[in-house]
Amino acid sequence: MRLANKVAIITGSAGGMGQVAAELFAQEGASVVVTDLNVQAGEETVQHIRQAGGTAIFIQANVAKEDEVKTLAQSAIDAYGHVDILYNNAGIMPTEDTSVIETSEVTWDKVLDVNLKSAFLCSKYVIPHMIEQKQGSIINVASFVAFMGCTVPQDAYTASKGGMLSLTKSLAVQYGQYNIRCNAICPGPIETPLLRTLWTSEDARNLRLNRIPLGRFGEAKDVVYMALYLASDESSWTTGAWLTVDGGITSN
Ligand code: NAD
Repeated sequence: MRLANKVAIITGSAGGMGQVAAELFAQEGASVVVTDLNVQAGEETVQHIRQAGGTAIFIQANVAKEDEVKTLAQSAIDAYGHVDILYNNAGIMPTEDTSVIETSEVTWDKVLDVNLKSAFLCSKYVIPHMIEQKQGSIINVASFVAFMGCTVPQDAYTASKGGMLSLTKSLAVQYGQYNIRCNAICPGPIETPLLRTLWTSEDARNLRLNRIPLGRFGEAKDVVYMALYLASDESSWTTGAWLTVDGGITSN
């Protein structure tokens, strides 16, 4: 098993790609800390993992709140004794227009808090444990829009994902000396509820679809297999990388 004896915190893992990651990581031998705002879906994810013979606990946390993240990190350590993988996956895309001229300060701050500050906070409270154990893998979820912008007005979201890329480089450079790796995954358009929020019309979907050389939208598992590689020791000499999993959309 590729993640035997490893402990993984996966944020936003009660739904979407995070949930698929939690299930795959558990199948690969990791003890998984499922964490999300959504208690019911989080508990169900844990139940599902346990029924399949895996190990997981659920800890509710809003990853944009420092006190909750601090408790999350401590609870993970209390439960399993160590944390080897931090997968900063939680993210939101507002349903309203967030072009700069339309966005309220409140909306801008919320998107940046959930999508970027969360990675800072989780890293802040997990890295000290990783330094002690002299190893760790941090995976930050960015997006293809960080490279090419967004066809619908989502400037706050796009900026938050660009921030994830820079944070990834910064952590890789600073903490490599402790054998802590930090990499970013940049998914293209993946068939999840978030995508359906983004492109409500067939025309908008087709516009993007026509730009994907591989001719289809992604599936959660396309992204999660990349995360599995980054979480495992197979990627032990990879850090600071921005890895696209996007059907080639950013090459077009
Ligand atoms: P999703 O909306 O399906 O799932 C996100 C999960 O995060 C949900 O379970 C939600 O409850 C949780 N969450 C939201 N705010 C939270 C908070 N403050 N604290 C804790 N949990 C919170 O999203 P998804 O499509 O699976 O996306 C996962 C990641 O991938 C996000 O960072 C997203 O920006 C990124 N991404 C998605 C796509 C796509 O096409 N779906 C493309 C590129 C990048």
